[in-house]
Amino acid sequence: MNKMKEKIKLFRESLRFVWRSAPGWASANIALSVIRSFLPLLLVWLLKGVIDGITIAAAAKQGSPLISVIWPVSALVIIWFFDEASSDFSNYIRKKQSLKLEVYMYGLLHSKSIALDLINFERPEYFDCLSRATREAPWRPNSILNNVVAMFKGVLSLVLIAGLITTLNWTIALLLIVANIPGIWLRLHYADILYDFHRRQTPEARKSAYFNWLLTGDRPSREIRLFGLGNYFITLFKNSFLKQKEEEINIIRKRTIIELISNLFKAASLLITLLFISHKTITGALSIGQMAMFLLAFRQGMVYIKELFVSLSGLYEDSLFIGDTFEFLNLKENVIAIEPVQFPSPLKDKILTENLSFTYPGNNTKTINNVSFELNKGEIVALVGANGAGKSTLVRLLCRLYDPDSGTIKYDGINIKNIAPDKYRKLFSVVFQDFMLYNLTAGENIRMGNIDEGNPEMKIRAAAVITGSHEMITALPAGYDSPIGNLFDESRELSWGEWQKIALARALFRDAPVLILDEPSGALDADTEYDIFSRFREIVTGRTTILISHRFTNVGLADRIIVLDKGSIAEEGTHDELIKKGGIYFTMFTKQSGRFKN
Ligand code: ATP
Repeated sequence: MNKMKEKIKLFRESLRFVWRSAPGWASANIALSVIRSFLPLLLVWLLKGVIDGITIAAAAKQGSPLISVIWPVSALVIIWFFDEASSDFSNYIRKKQSLKLEVYMYGLLHSKSIALDLINFERPEYFDCLSRATREAPWRPNSILNNVVAMFKGVLSLVLIAGLITTLNWTIALLLIVANIPGIWLRLHYADILYDFHRRQTPEARKSAYFNWLLTGDRPSREIRLFGLGNYFITLFKNSFLKQKEEEINIIRKRTIIELISNLFKAASLLITLLFISHKTITGALSIGQMAMFLLAFRQGMVYIKELFVSLSGLYEDSLFIGDTFEFLNLKENVIAIEPVQFPSPLKDKILTENLSFTYPGNNTKTINNVSFELNKGEIVALVGANGAGKSTLVRLLCRLYDPDSGTIKYDGINIKNIAPDKYRKLFSVVFQDFMLYNLTAGENIRMGNIDEGNPEMKIRAAAVITGSHEMITALPAGYDSPIGNLFDESRELSWGEWQKIALARALFRDAPVLILDEPSGALDADTEYDIFSRFREIVTGRTTILISHRFTNVGLADRIIVLDKGSIAEEGTHDELIKKGGIYFTMFTKQSGRFKN
């Protein structure tokens, strides 16, 4: 019972989406469908008039033979034309409405996707849920509306036709309905089986989509060729794809066989009806026109019942699948502002972290373990540590992309949980290790650092000049207006180091008080790196900066260095202090500088 209530609730919600996305088109769709349910009955009745008119005129053999049929024939043709034209028109309305709904649903999905906590992206279940929702959301609500309308239209038409058949014999009307019952059960039963199958198969479907991307995507294309991995992934794709499809085909095969049996019931009822009508006509109880009308009515009734059951089982299937969309849309965001909400201003004093700990979902060791440090206004702090020490994770916590499991971060004394995440993130500018390459123009790539900047041209140039990318950009065919990347025609691909300079320019273009650079020079040539880092203080001037780097020549520029080891702070101090201490930093530094001495 509860399950039923839940499904009705989902239907109501879905229909609300349909209504909100296009109220006018939805109304037109419903109105036209209702009008169209009367037409077949009218056609059957007019046909009887035509046939009886012909029979009478043929028997009378006098006067103008067409007079007695001219009115029913004309009316029949007009109604037929209206039926055809309204069918085309109704298709157009439905298409238009689906388009509006798709745009609306994509809007909901995308807004949810960008609002959801980043931590969701670490969970495979999230991707399963997202891929099911993106597959279903754009069209399921419309399918619900169409099925509801079709069901309503089907019931109305069926009642009218059954009413007509009852004037002949009520058992025939009953037979019409009973013969179709095995078919309904079958459809509902298999809707359940197919839904369970699709749900189980989502991880496998994602796997085959991944192998498909490896074989067709741009990024993997070089390694696939160089390592000769193509055939290996073709096999993996084929196995994964067949695994899904073979089971589905098996289910459909079983359904087809049982469907054949259910059709036998319908054939038997048709046989009985035909014999009954033939008998009545031969014995003179029915006119030829009435015979034709009842035969057509019975056939039409069969069609309606079929359509009715298709829409009924469609609705049932919709009720199963629409749940996936709501499962995604109802995912909760936990990284939100909690009361009392505060509004931060540019950093005045410091950011303080106290006893931060954080574990990634599914991991059993803490990636960040009881970390406390402070970042004073205007300071340059370097974060160093071995691969996997937790540096990038700490940055994500500082930007509140994740919330720590325990501990607090205070921004000028305000717990950052009391600040709206979007407002808080405006205070940060970050070059991530895996920064984005936007297939847009060079200028836009820099502008992405602050899309709200009203008059960006001068500032974009300034950021490009300071990061040494201005010359490279002006040498492009259309300068700052040149599309870069490899996705679209006329785009120019850049080297990784050139992309990195643009990412740096993007970060500097953003007027944020805190700047975080996660390994910003990995792909820069020695000259550019020297140029940037010898002017580093000038470049970051006025900003509080965190620099993550494995290059100790750059790290040495920082006011303070924090050494992370397996998620904990192992050492902290200036370069000289840490060298004197002779600990982890000293060992790492001497190993790296030792390589250059020999
Ligand atoms: P590197 O110097 O290699 O960039 P890092 O110090 O920045 O390393 P992190 O990227 O913070 O290290 O990773 C710290 C640990 O957390 C690693 O052991 C890694 O396996 C784990 N880790 C990182 N990202 C994830 C993730 N998305 N899901 C689960 N574990 C993760």
